[in-house]
Amino acid sequence: MIYRIPPEDASPFFRFVAKKCYTGTDMNTKAFCILSLLLVLAVIVETSAQQDDSALRPFLSLTSLADSCGAMLEYDPLTRSGMISARGRVVSFVVGAPWILLDWKQLRQVSAPSDTGASVEVARDFADVVMAYFAEPEQRISKYTVKAIVIDPGHGGRDPGAIGEFDTFRIQEKDINLQIALRTAELLRLRYPDRQVLLTRDQDMYPSLEERVEMANAIRLRETEAVIYVSIHSNASFNRNSRGYEVWYLNPEYRRTVVDERILKEKGEDLSAIINTMLEEEFTTESIILAQKVYQSMGSMLGTFTEGRGIRAEEWFVVRNARMPSILIEAGFVTNREEATLLANPSYLRRIADAIYNGIVGFIDHFER
Ligand SMILES: [Zn+2]
Repeated sequence: MIYRIPPEDASPFFRFVAKKCYTGTDMNTKAFCILSLLLVLAVIVETSAQQDDSALRPFLSLTSLADSCGAMLEYDPLTRSGMISARGRVVSFVVGAPWILLDWKQLRQVSAPSDTGASVEVARDFADVVMAYFAEPEQRISKYTVKAIVIDPGHGGRDPGAIGEFDTFRIQEKDINLQIALRTAELLRLRYPDRQVLLTRDQDMYPSLEERVEMANAIRLRETEAVIYVSIHSNASFNRNSRGYEVWYLNPEYRRTVVDERILKEKGEDLSAIINTMLEEEFTTESIILAQKVYQSMGSMLGTFTEGRGIRAEEWFVVRNARMPSILIEAGFVTNREEATLLANPSYLRRIADAIYNGIVGFIDHFER
């Protein structure tokens, strides 16, 4: 057990002991004095160490902090980043970074959160900023909304993509991608008549990868608006047994520049680098959540027909230049006879589109909550 004296009591006691030592003469008193002095010094050192440390020492798990704010915590152990959100308000953090970002605008210096493996722990100053922020009146909240959804059917025109050739039929990836994309976009337009739903192509033509990404990047956004980018592809393999769907998101290692010149001028270059990192981590986190929603939805709609091959991370051109949560879907293998038969069937493609649509709707609900 550690005995502690509050600092305000330490000095009168120290004075008492010092006085006793100064006036005392016999050996017992001297021994008592020396021992007491040592004890007092030890206590002072211990007390001041505790004091200096207390602002930085993790003392609260992020889960209980979020609970006490009535907020939702999302944490991605892969990127070691996450956010706490409630009532349209978002606090973003990165483990090890001594900053948090409030609603994408305000950067606050706090003690860096740490990941203990079992939980993410934060210090008192971190908790104070977060609690104060969520306690602010609601009218100051600027709601985050998805302004546009870009659906990108891969390949097209002179680029057929993957080809499945069998004795009785032949299918091309570009046609599968287009059919799924058209149906997905149609459903989204019905659901969200007041949002932009764009197709990078709506017929058998070939926009270059740069043109597709440029289409998405050209959408003018306000500070609280986002764009979702969903690229639809079909898979091929030399192994004719390979089958199933996959959902890819951007590799978290990839570094994008998502902060514009304006923020750079406003906040200064040192801060803009940090904001940049946090936004980029956030877009990665959002991409992962979008990937999860779509993957789960495909699982529940396609489960009896084929198999899920997992959520994967990769750098690939289509989304790495897109400043937005982005995923790429591999709907199935055109090289597997059984799956190719399904992919040649319009009702199966509609089913895939419905699954993607449900996943996107689930993500938008989550994003705007
Ligand atoms: Zn493809």
